[in-house]
Amino acid sequence: MQTINVKDKSFSLFIPEKEILKEVKRIATQINRDYAGKEPVFLAVLNGSFVFAADLMKEVNLPCEISFVKMASYQGVNTTGQIREVIGLNVDLTDRPVIVVEDIVDTGLTMAHMLEVLKKQNPASIDICTLLLKPGKLQVDLNIRYCCLEIPNDFIVGYGLDYDGYGRNTRDIYTLVK
Ligand code: 5GP
Repeated sequence: MQTINVKDKSFSLFIPEKEILKEVKRIATQINRDYAGKEPVFLAVLNGSFVFAADLMKEVNLPCEISFVKMASYQGVNTTGQIREVIGLNVDLTDRPVIVVEDIVDTGLTMAHMLEVLKKQNPASIDICTLLLKPGKLQVDLNIRYCCLEIPNDFIVGYGLDYDGYGRNTRDIYTLVK
């Protein structure tokens, strides 16, 4: 079993690059078909999606734009404490078909908040495209149109995803050794 160490934890090989790229191609083919005749704006959510977004875009053959956004959380003075805002959104989404590109949807709360913010810009439509989904953890109904792979509830790293900032720079995806 191939294992790697990231900081103080061990991870074992879970999804090899070859399998990831096959799924990325499958999803890109669907997008090319579904969005034929349209000019979508891809919004890739940083940091985790940067590798997935790059591989996905190489397979998309539509006239399109890509922009990178980030969800920033900080302690505020409202009742719930946490304030979360989307930063880096510098494309006018009005009447545009939008595809949000995420690395992983876990509880789905991050994505739900992102959609709420984006809808205020009056896009023509919004679809979600995620590399990974943990169906066992999902807490909200997101109607995810494009999903490369469904995985169990374990913590994973690699292919853009990190553990405490490290481990993003592997070709394959690894799962935490318990
Ligand atoms: P959610 O709001 O859906 O619970 O969380 C989504 C975010 O949590 C992802 O964008 C990602 O940053 C982080 N996340 C959730 N599960 C994992 C995981 O297994 N590994 C890593 N590296 N990040 C995860």
